[in-house]
Amino acid sequence: MLQVLVKQSMSKTHLALVTGANRGIGLEIVRQLAARGVGTVLAARELDKGLAAAGQLKAQGLDVSVVTLDVSRAESIARAVAQVEGDFGPIDILVNNAAILIDGPGGFDASLFDLTPDTLRATFETNLIGPLELIRAVVPGMRRQRYGRVVNVSSAAGQLAHMGMGFPGYRMSKAALNALTCIAAAEVAQDGADIKINAVDPGWVRTDMGGRDAARSVEQGAETAVWLATLAADGPTGGFFRDKKSIAW
Ligand code: NAP
Repeated sequence: MLQVLVKQSMSKTHLALVTGANRGIGLEIVRQLAARGVGTVLAARELDKGLAAAGQLKAQGLDVSVVTLDVSRAESIARAVAQVEGDFGPIDILVNNAAILIDGPGGFDASLFDLTPDTLRATFETNLIGPLELIRAVVPGMRRQRYGRVVNVSSAAGQLAHMGMGFPGYRMSKAALNALTCIAAAEVAQDGADIKINAVDPGWVRTDMGGRDAARSVEQGAETAVWLATLAADGPTGGFFRDKKSIAW
C-alpha cells in the first residue's frame, strides 16, 4: 500500500498522532486537539478517506496533516511513525483509537460459540497488537524527550469488573488493551519522566460502530480522550477513565 504523509505547516507546541481518525470518535479527537492548538496528524488506513476527513476540518478553519496507517500491518506502523517523526520531530501524544468490532452473527448479541479463531485473530491484530506496536514505535521517542501522553481508546466492554456475554472477541481485545495500558504505564513509570499512559471508555457513542441509538455524541465521546491526551504533569497514569473519572478495570 502507498504510504503517504500530507503535510500542513505545524508550528505547534505538541505533536499528536491519532489512529483510525477518518471518522467517528477518532476524527472528533483530532478536531478537538487541533482546536486546542495541538499539531495533529490524522492517521487513516485509506488516504482518500483521510484527506476527505481533513477537508471537513479545513472547512472549520483547522489544519491537520494526514498519514496513511493500517494498524494491523507492522510495516505500515513503522513507515508512518518514521515519516511523521522525520517530518515533524518526536510524537508527543499517541491516541490508539482505531478498532474493529466484527463479532458476529448477532451484532452486540454475538455468541462465544459462534466466534471463529480467524475473527478473534483479526480483532486482536487491530485492537491489541496495533496499539502495542504503536506504543513500541512511539514511546522510545517520548522516553528520550522525557515527555509523552498515550491514550488507549478502550471500552466498558473490556471491563473485567462487569464482564458479561455478547461480542466476545471485541470484549477480550479491549480487556487485553487494558492490560497493555497497565503494563506499559508501569514500565515507563520507572524512568520518572513526564509520560502518562491511560485508557479511556468513551461511553456508548453515535458512530458507525456504536449505531444511531447510542446515547452520546462524538463530542462527548472524544472529551475524556482529549483530556488524557493533554494532561498536566501532575495528572494520572496507568488508569482507566470515563467522563474524566477513574473507573474499575
Ligand atoms: P468507527 O466509527 O467504526 O471508526 C473506526 C475507525 O477505525 C475508522 O476510522 C476505521 O477506518 C478505523 N480502523 C479500523 N481498522 C483499522 C486499521 N486496521 N487501521 C487503521 N484504522 C482502522 O468506531 P468509533 O465508534 O469511532 O470507535 C472509536 C474507538 O472507540 C474504538 O477504539 C472503539 O472500540 C471505541 N469505542 C466506541 C464506542 C462506541 O459506542 N462507538 C464505545 C466504546 C468504545 P476505516 O474507515 O478505514 O474503516
